[in-house]
Amino acid sequence: MVCCIFARILRLMTFQELGLKPELLSAITEIGFETPMPVQQQTIPFIFEQTDDLVVLAQTGTGKTAAFGLPILNLIDSTQQKVQALILAPTRELCIQIANDLNKFAKHLPKVRVVPIYGGESIVKQLKQVDVQPQVLVATPGRLLDMLRRKKVHLNDVSFLVLDEADEMLNMGFLEDIETILQALPDARRTMLFSATMPAEIARIARNYMKTSHEITVGVRNAGAENVSHLYYVVQAKQRYLALKRIVDMNPDIYGIVFCRTRQETKEVAEKLIVDGYNADALHGDLSQVQRDSVMSKFRLHGLQLLVATDVAARGLDVHNLTHVINYNLPDDAEVYTHRSGRTGRANKKGISISIIHTRERNRIRSLEKLLKKEFTQVPVPDGMAVCKKQLFHLINKMEKVEVCDEIEPFLPEIEKKLTYLEKEDMLRRFVSLEFNRFLEYYKNAPDLNVPEKEIKPAKKSEKSTEKTKRKGKLVRFRLNVGTKQNFNINRLLAFINDIVCDRSIKIGSIELIAKASFFDVYADQAEQVFNAFEKFAPNGIRLEAVGTSSSPKSNRKKPQQHKKEPDSSKKSTSNSDKPWRRRR
Ligand code: AMP
Repeated sequence: MVCCIFARILRLMTFQELGLKPELLSAITEIGFETPMPVQQQTIPFIFEQTDDLVVLAQTGTGKTAAFGLPILNLIDSTQQKVQALILAPTRELCIQIANDLNKFAKHLPKVRVVPIYGGESIVKQLKQVDVQPQVLVATPGRLLDMLRRKKVHLNDVSFLVLDEADEMLNMGFLEDIETILQALPDARRTMLFSATMPAEIARIARNYMKTSHEITVGVRNAGAENVSHLYYVVQAKQRYLALKRIVDMNPDIYGIVFCRTRQETKEVAEKLIVDGYNADALHGDLSQVQRDSVMSKFRLHGLQLLVATDVAARGLDVHNLTHVINYNLPDDAEVYTHRSGRTGRANKKGISISIIHTRERNRIRSLEKLLKKEFTQVPVPDGMAVCKKQLFHLINKMEKVEVCDEIEPFLPEIEKKLTYLEKEDMLRRFVSLEFNRFLEYYKNAPDLNVPEKEIKPAKKSEKSTEKTKRKGKLVRFRLNVGTKQNFNINRLLAFINDIVCDRSIKIGSIELIAKASFFDVYADQAEQVFNAFEKFAPNGIRLEAVGTSSSPKSNRKKPQQHKKEPDSSKKSTSNSDKPWRRRR
């Protein structure tokens, strides 16, 4: 059987040969999928023909949603109104994206219902949606547990469990939640675990909760998408925006996402680009759902050339043919870089991931090179003349290709008469100038944005310590009115906060638990967001209050804490102060 599968893989099967139902085949044809991607070539026949569990090591953007989604939709019984497939994912955005994809695949299977449930949003609406007993549930672990405890979801009939981005779920403290969910599922199920990396904890889950499992690796472990070239420009930090403009001007057909670190930066960069005449818009967490949908659909339909976005806001965006991803700032996490750059170079197309770095960030590029096992190429920021030349020939190419309408014919004799005094060269000069003077004017005295090599110093500090130093003196300590008495521990608390705040960019610092309360640090510039999320989405009875500020993670741990005054503080407490900063969604 295995030989048979290999033989077929070597021959590159079509979707028809993979054995999908006609309803699914017509849906994916309408979406525009022509041939199965490698992860689909390997996974789909395995799910159909074998009974073992499955571990798939694949990066995001490799087509894994269809790899598990299509066979699951093929195998569930659409006449039965009960949850037969459960897909766990780390973030609300990923949940929505998976559910949207699956709903598109199930377009011609009218009885199939796919419902996403996730934290960071009112539970009431979601409870109504699960009431219809969908066949497929896509959930974040925290929200699913909440519903299980309320006995609103029944998982006795689950025959497929997918753990998507399992390594991310672990990073976000969901391990215990996942284990609790796994124990609530019937033994007679198939488990499929998808992960970009294989840390020891994932291997342990696979050992403990999966029957004999088969491993499929797509591409190189921890590698960035194969078709992506990684380029970087070194400029002074204050020249970042000018460098961005040059890069965009140098790529007139660019269709890409500019990733920023904060909402504020996203807004600022987008506003400047719009004022400077670029076809750009911003996508960030401050937009209403209607505004977000409108920006995303404009971008998807190529109504925008550049989308300036935060990582979180861009999660729900599924766009196939980006030419570029631009890191306006490098992300703090190497994994985030992998996610960003994996958004280009998809479906066998070439893509370019550009990073604009400042003079002390070259060591961060070196770490990315090591992690991705890919070479990053430093490119000089083009000078004004190079940009002008590029734009000029872009204009000429456009002119060559422009479709000439018959409707202008009647006007030609008069135009010709009016311009008889002009030589051909003069006429060309004038037409080109008409479009092009704006560029020439802007770039006439454009400065050289490149930093002389001797000024590019290797940074002395690690990525983490750089961030700490930058944000030194800016921590807010929060107190939550639940602790070890309510069965919380550090991981549970982290997962709980994650599920309420639902924002990967928020970092949680030192966590400490006592019997009836717990305490955690967040950076001051993210504190309001955390507080607001708790106000809106925390379960009844949960109260969060800020109990003080401190100067740095280190000093915060040494100094007496504000919560020393708490009645329970003399009792045994647990803390993660040896791990001051946790990865977040
Ligand atoms: P995923 O890894 O599931 O997020 O998929 C990455 C991207 O590839 C998404 O934009 C999918 O719509 C697209 N995709 C998935 N499978 C195919 C396929 N067989 N052909 C073309 N595009 C695909």
